[in-house]
Amino acid sequence: MFEADVQDVPQHSFTGDLPTKERVKQVIDAAHARYADHADGDVADYIPVLAQADPAWFGISMIDVFGGHYAAGDTELKFSIQSISKAFVFALVCEALGHERMHERIGVNNTGLPFNSVMALELNDGSPMNSMVNAGALATTALMAGGSPAEQWENIRSGLSAFAGRQLELDGEVYRSEMATNTRNKAIARLLESYGRITIDPLEVVDIYTRQCSLSVTAHDLAIMGATLADGGVNPVTGQKVIGAETARDTLALMASCGLYERSGEWLFEIGLPAKSGVAGGMVAISPGKGALGLYSPPLDRAGNSVRSQRVCAYLSKALGLNLFASSAHVKGTHV
Ligand code: GLU
Repeated sequence: MFEADVQDVPQHSFTGDLPTKERVKQVIDAAHARYADHADGDVADYIPVLAQADPAWFGISMIDVFGGHYAAGDTELKFSIQSISKAFVFALVCEALGHERMHERIGVNNTGLPFNSVMALELNDGSPMNSMVNAGALATTALMAGGSPAEQWENIRSGLSAFAGRQLELDGEVYRSEMATNTRNKAIARLLESYGRITIDPLEVVDIYTRQCSLSVTAHDLAIMGATLADGGVNPVTGQKVIGAETARDTLALMASCGLYERSGEWLFEIGLPAKSGVAGGMVAISPGKGALGLYSPPLDRAGNSVRSQRVCAYLSKALGLNLFASSAHVKGTHV
C-alpha cells in the first residue's frame, strides 16, 4: 500500500548505541534482583502440562547485534515457545510471499480481542486479521512452503532453528497435551476453511501449528531469535542471513501492534518495543539496531502475557534506552 509509494527512497536506519557492556551487564543483574520476588499472575493451565511450571522460574537474557551475550537467572531452562513462534513463522512466510501478499491475505490490524477469539473472525467476515492471534497464525502456517504437512513442519522447524542458531527440538509432552485439548483451535481452523481462508486440510494445519508452539526453547534462544530481527535478519551469533532486512522490519512492525494480544496498545505505550509473548511464560522484546531480550517467567496476566517479563522489559527499556519512541531534544545547530 504505502510502501509502493516510497519504494525509491533509501532506508535510513536508526542504530543508536547501547550503553557499555559493563553497564548493560550491571543493569540486567539489577533487573533480575529487583523482580526476583515478584509473584503476580497465574501459570497457564488450559494446556494441562503447562500447569506444572514453577512460578519462581525466572531468566533474563540479552543478545546485542554484535553477538554480545548477557544473562541473569534461569536462562538455560527449557520451555515451549508457544505463541512466540507466530512472529517467526510470520517472518518466514512473509520472506517467501512478500509484504503486499501478507497484508492482503492475512492482515496486519489488531483484533482488540483475546488470542483465541472466534468472534474476531465472525466480526471481520472471516478475515484472520493478523498473524499474532490464533486464527491468523493458523492461516499463516497454512501458507508455509512445502509440498506436504511433514515438509511444511520441517521447514518451520529448520527456519526457527536458524533464528535460534541451533537445532530446536519438539517437546513431545507439550505437543501431546495440547493436541488432546485444542478443540477450540480445531474449530477456528474449520471456520477459516468455511471462509476459504485455509485451502489445505485444516486439521493438518492445527497439527503443524501445535508442533510449532511445542518447540522447546530457552530465554537465551529467544534473545538470539529476537536479535536476528534486531540485526536486519542476520543472526548476530552465527552470522547467517535468515531473512531479508525488509521482512525483519515488517515482522517488528506487526509485533509492535499485535504482539501482546489485546494489551498491545498498553504495552507500546508503557514500554515502546516490538515484542511477542507466549502462554508458557516466554517473551521476546526487540530494540531494532541494538539487540533483543529473551525472558522467561511463567505467571501470566489475563491476556496471556508473562507479568514479570513485562515489568523487566519496562525497567530495561528505560534503563538501557531501548524505547523506540524516546528522544531527547537535540543540541541546536548540530544538524549540518
Ligand atoms: N499453543 C497455544 C494456543 O494455541 C498458544 C497460545 C499462546 O501462547 O498465546 O492456544
